[in-house]
Amino acid sequence: MADITTATTESSQSNLQPSISHPSLPANVPNVHPNNASTTSPESSVSPESAFDYHRHKRLGKLPKVCPFSDPSRENPCTTHNQPRSRKDIIMKHLLKMKSKNDPSHPKNDPLWESDVVKYLLQLLPPRYDETQKREAAQLSAHRYYVKRIKLQDEKADLEKEKFIAGQIDAEKYKSFLIGKRRREFLMEQSLKARIEQEIREENERELQQILEQRISELRSQSNGDFATQSAILELENARDKLASAQMDVRRYREEISSQSAKVVEFFANDSFLSSDRTFLQHHEFRWPTNPSVEIFYVFATFLSAPSGWNGQIRSSENIRHMKRELSEYIEGEKALVDEDEVHQLEGIMAVFNSSCDMVRLEEERTSEMSTEGAQKWLDEQSSLWDRAQRLFHDRFKLNTRPPIQLVSLIDEYADMWRGLKEAEDGEDLARQTAQAAAEGG
Ligand SMILES: [Zn+2]
Repeated sequence: MADITTATTESSQSNLQPSISHPSLPANVPNVHPNNASTTSPESSVSPESAFDYHRHKRLGKLPKVCPFSDPSRENPCTTHNQPRSRKDIIMKHLLKMKSKNDPSHPKNDPLWESDVVKYLLQLLPPRYDETQKREAAQLSAHRYYVKRIKLQDEKADLEKEKFIAGQIDAEKYKSFLIGKRRREFLMEQSLKARIEQEIREENERELQQILEQRISELRSQSNGDFATQSAILELENARDKLASAQMDVRRYREEISSQSAKVVEFFANDSFLSSDRTFLQHHEFRWPTNPSVEIFYVFATFLSAPSGWNGQIRSSENIRHMKRELSEYIEGEKALVDEDEVHQLEGIMAVFNSSCDMVRLEEERTSEMSTEGAQKWLDEQSSLWDRAQRLFHDRFKLNTRPPIQLVSLIDEYADMWRGLKEAEDGEDLARQTAQAAAEGG
């Protein structure tokens, strides 16, 4: 009997990135490397955003996944992301954060923001598939039903998108028609929009505060102690203070929610996970099995079926269908985050699972020709394989190891915090409107 642990706990040597930063650029890749991306050349500076073609820049994926602003030749190089990361999205998130911050190492007006390499890093996924990729995607699922379902939803999603743009349905409703990569793309878009709106709002509020201060000092200098001016001053001061404290409330809740989110993640992982740059599976040193077998079927089953159903018919065709769909959706989502050359690896996971399912089904069919004793022996073997896979899963992951009452508290705390933030935001809106009216009225 093959040893499951060798297939799954194998240390992820190949995932370790060499610690060389900024290796020299291949000669055939012009204007894309951090080293020369900031010097504007005709090609890179004239190309408008719309002309940026992801597929033309696939090869950018071969570059080390470091922050382009970390190049040592820069005046104030970024030091937090100057070593290669395991995934492109880590650099993407870093860049998004820095862009909204106007960080000294990542100045807002730096031409590097317009370079192909930065655009590539900020691009979530290829906007379209070419024919080969379409064929590969179809082969990957080897599950016609799923492909049909994606297609159906995609067609529907286009219609719903028009409705969403026309304002006939809200984002929540539109989101419900999206699955896999499209859904992820949309969520990203929405969170970017929210961030920009937030920035504009903060800027407006700063201006409003300034106007209020100015008005107050104007009135003070004009005042000769008359009642009308005094009460106008009081009203403005009041509006100013209310706005400031409403802003403070919102800020406090935001900070609180951010640390609360960490608590939620730590509940399921551990405290060293968040500060690492690894994915949940990498952090737990799990790698998807690469050789199909009956044992491996059960390893997959621990990931693809809900623990509440682990005592049920794990090998039923209905359960297998569900598991295949889960894995397919997971892979589709992951594809959006990895480089082209890693897409094959992801598709390989599906193939290993499909073959393992076939092996189990074949063996199970054969039991009908066996003696009762032989068939029973096979069933016993299967349940010990299943037990073993479950044990390995629980040993490795903290996903189901806490009494539910802890989760109950955590959910309640988080919900309270979220509701508190909502309320604080409403309060801020009101304070702003009042302040606006006071500023205009004086
Ligand atoms: Zn950086």
